[in-house]
Amino acid sequence: MASSEEQGKPDLHVLIVGAGVTGLIIAQGLKKNGISYSIFESESTGSRPRSREWGMSIHWSRPLLKELLPNEILDKIRDAQVDPTYDTCNPKGYVVPFYNGKTGAHIVDIPMVNAIRVSRRKMRALCAEGIDIQYGKKVVSLEPSESGTAVKFSDGTTAAGSICIGADGAQSAVRQLALPGEEGKALPLNVVLYNLNVSYGDAERSKAVRSIHFMNSVALHPEKNLSIWTSIQDVPDTDKPEDWQFQIMPTWLADGKTHTGGAQGLAELKELAVHLAEPWKSSLLWIPEDTDVTYSSVSYWPTREWNSQNGSLTLAGDSAHPVPPHRGQGLNHGIADAHNFVKVVLDVKDGKKTKDVAIEEYNAELVKRGADEVETSRRNALLVHDFEKFMDSPVLKQGYAKSKVK
Ligand SMILES: Cc1cc2nc3c(=O)[nH]c(=O)nc-3n(C[C@H](O)[C@H](O)[C@H](O)COP(=O)(O)OP(=O)(O)OC[C@H]3O[C@@H](n4cnc5c(N)ncnc54)[C@H](O)[C@@H]3O)c2cc1C
Repeated sequence: MASSEEQGKPDLHVLIVGAGVTGLIIAQGLKKNGISYSIFESESTGSRPRSREWGMSIHWSRPLLKELLPNEILDKIRDAQVDPTYDTCNPKGYVVPFYNGKTGAHIVDIPMVNAIRVSRRKMRALCAEGIDIQYGKKVVSLEPSESGTAVKFSDGTTAAGSICIGADGAQSAVRQLALPGEEGKALPLNVVLYNLNVSYGDAERSKAVRSIHFMNSVALHPEKNLSIWTSIQDVPDTDKPEDWQFQIMPTWLADGKTHTGGAQGLAELKELAVHLAEPWKSSLLWIPEDTDVTYSSVSYWPTREWNSQNGSLTLAGDSAHPVPPHRGQGLNHGIADAHNFVKVVLDVKDGKKTKDVAIEEYNAELVKRGADEVETSRRNALLVHDFEKFMDSPVLKQGYAKSKVK
């Protein structure tokens, strides 16, 4: 099989910065279409601590993912799911039920059409199959070069390519190099977010927590500006509920307190539990003391134009449109970016477009779609924490569907 260096035209070589799911899917799409690429990752290895694990619902972007990935990877997506027994061919998908977290009353079911829910860790490992990732390569600077863009890494080495695509996440270095100063920086959102992977180690407790819904649910507290996302995260064996793992993501409007996660975070969550109806109350009280309680600040960046250096520099995924997670859109847009990017680069390879025209076309669509989603998801993240206004939130009005960009 040809290596990435041997594929495509010698003068068309894509540098992908970041081997998160977006960067990896771009690499898979380029490889599938015989386009030369290199992919660089700042982490030293591919294995990450479990605290960075969460589930990601892929819904409206699934047809695009199908076009990008080779069959041998698509065939294994079932196993990358949080529950591999879920039927990936179910076109209806499932619903996300919303409840009043104080009384337990059901509020609404919001459909997630054509959805599957994958583990971030498993999906990264799957999408890395057959991709030669260069680890320990942290991009620190970018310069225009004869061929397009030259990137410099923290270890002093460099790489040159005709197009550099920053898929380096919400705090993207590539974005901040393209837009120096305040313009490229992500902005803080007034929301506290804890993300936990919880194993109760007890069959009855696991079944009680999963009794809300087999996949996912949201509880909103009318007085605490609080939302709790609960979903299944890992089902090693359907018949062994004691081994199931859950993702629990309590979020609330920032209250001026300092949050650190760890033991302090767990104590904070257990204090909140007393205000909740069952089973959310027990789902927090039963969290084992040795659980990793990760606190994250929530940030966003209103997507705007950057200097593309005559079609040599662009962005994709969270780097281009970091959003709060409450509408489940980040990866779906990352997949759309990957799809659009591979399509325009293929046009360059086939001589249908020049590089600057192709990347300008890609950027124009991305900036419009990204800016729209960032604002929609930002608004949504504030409204889901305001019980009175939840009925006006984007997730209630338009569900999980792709926004219709005007
Ligand atoms: C709790 C939670 C739940 C979510 N749920 C959903 C969901 O249900 N559906 C959905 O669509 N989305 C969801 N998302 C969003 C989704 O997880 C992200 O949109 C997606 O993972 C982004 O992938 P990415 O590859 O763009 O970025 P990342 O996963 O952040 O990958 C970026 C990569 O770049 C590397 N990197 C960073 N800086 C450099 C550098 N200078 N040089 C080289 N490499 C670098 C990083 O190490 C990392 O590996 C959720 C997010 C969270 C936090």
